[in-house]
Amino acid sequence: MKNLAKSVSKNKLNLNSNYEGFSLNAFNKDKRVINFSPGPGQIPIEVLDKIYDKSVYGVTPYEISHRSPEFNNILDRVNKNMKTFLEIPDDFTILWTQGGGHGQFAAIPLNFKNIMRYNKANYIVTGTWSDRAFKESLKFINSYNSLNLKEDPIKIKNIDNPIFNINENDKYVYLCSNETVNGIEFRNSGIPYPDKSQLKNSKLIIDMSSDMSMKKINWENIDMAFACTSKNFGVAGANVVIIKKSLLNELNTIDEIPSILDWNIYDKSNSLYNTPAIFNIFLIDKILEYYINLGGIEVLENNSITKGNLVYNFLDSSNIFKPVINNKKIRSNINIPFIIEDEQLRSIFLDYCFKNNIVGLRTKTPFSYKDYQMIEPLRISLYNGISLEETKILINIMKTFESMLTGNIFIK
Ligand code: PMP
Repeated sequence: MKNLAKSVSKNKLNLNSNYEGFSLNAFNKDKRVINFSPGPGQIPIEVLDKIYDKSVYGVTPYEISHRSPEFNNILDRVNKNMKTFLEIPDDFTILWTQGGGHGQFAAIPLNFKNIMRYNKANYIVTGTWSDRAFKESLKFINSYNSLNLKEDPIKIKNIDNPIFNINENDKYVYLCSNETVNGIEFRNSGIPYPDKSQLKNSKLIIDMSSDMSMKKINWENIDMAFACTSKNFGVAGANVVIIKKSLLNELNTIDEIPSILDWNIYDKSNSLYNTPAIFNIFLIDKILEYYINLGGIEVLENNSITKGNLVYNFLDSSNIFKPVINNKKIRSNINIPFIIEDEQLRSIFLDYCFKNNIVGLRTKTPFSYKDYQMIEPLRISLYNGISLEETKILINIMKTFESMLTGNIFIK
């Protein structure tokens, strides 16, 4: 592999063997880039085209007052469409909160604080995001990591069945249904969420930030699910909370915790206690309309599985690109980390992608993989905003790159 990288570094295509690959700029400015970034993710062009329709709004989407009848109509429609699209049962309510996913990492323990008594919260830590949520909860309540794998959460690559270790005294069980960084996913065809008998009396709380709207949800055992908006719901900053009304009634938080995190305050004010993230909600309205017109959640789920399979079929047979997660039961269809062992070759590949207007495969992380003695993976993120066609374009680019490399076409 090292020799290959050397030969490629003097290549006919003049690809840069020091290219970092973090930039999201287009090489060919006449074409839209395809952005495979883990988030904020690519928004379908059909939705972007609908942002500013002068014939419909007297004011632009950036200026709508949350007290206006226009915004009330948008909020009503968003709630109605969310409920239909995600088949949310009547005994749940939808809240539009701020502070993204991290807002909820704090909101969850704080909203539960008053009813915790001697109970604990059980965090099933399967990667970086559930770990962050777990660490945040430790500031406020008595919580523990029930999976307690040997590896650091950044390094988690494998989870075996059965993984649920739930106690009678766990007030709630927390999991992240798709670990965006690690590429580990809970789903019915792999490891499903814990069921009633496994949960005992615990409430089930799920971070669906990177998979909500990509697969059907079985709401039967769920008490609260949330998702930040930067993956499949447009722009970053806001968050949706879908919560059982009975749980809201049980929590006794008014005047006890910061209002901005208090689910009951959001509920009682129809998410209008303060100025909500107007533009997010405006955009979500357009996105939901787009998802529903595509055929709804089943179509999106099938697309997601098809896209994931296409990528894995290629990675599993490649000699250069290696998937990080090999266990088919847990590997994510949505975020697919993969490794190119040689750093120079990785740079050349990223530059090749850039020259083909493909971006977002490498992202800066708040930690250094080197500190964990790991080869830094690249990542393909296949949110709803990435079409099947675009997925195929990427795979073809990867295939061509590999065949050029093995055929030594790069050598002068
Ligand atoms: N949970 C998951 C699964 C995520 O992927 C992210 C963001 N990448 C978060 C939570 C945090 O969301 P935010 O950055 O909006 O706080």
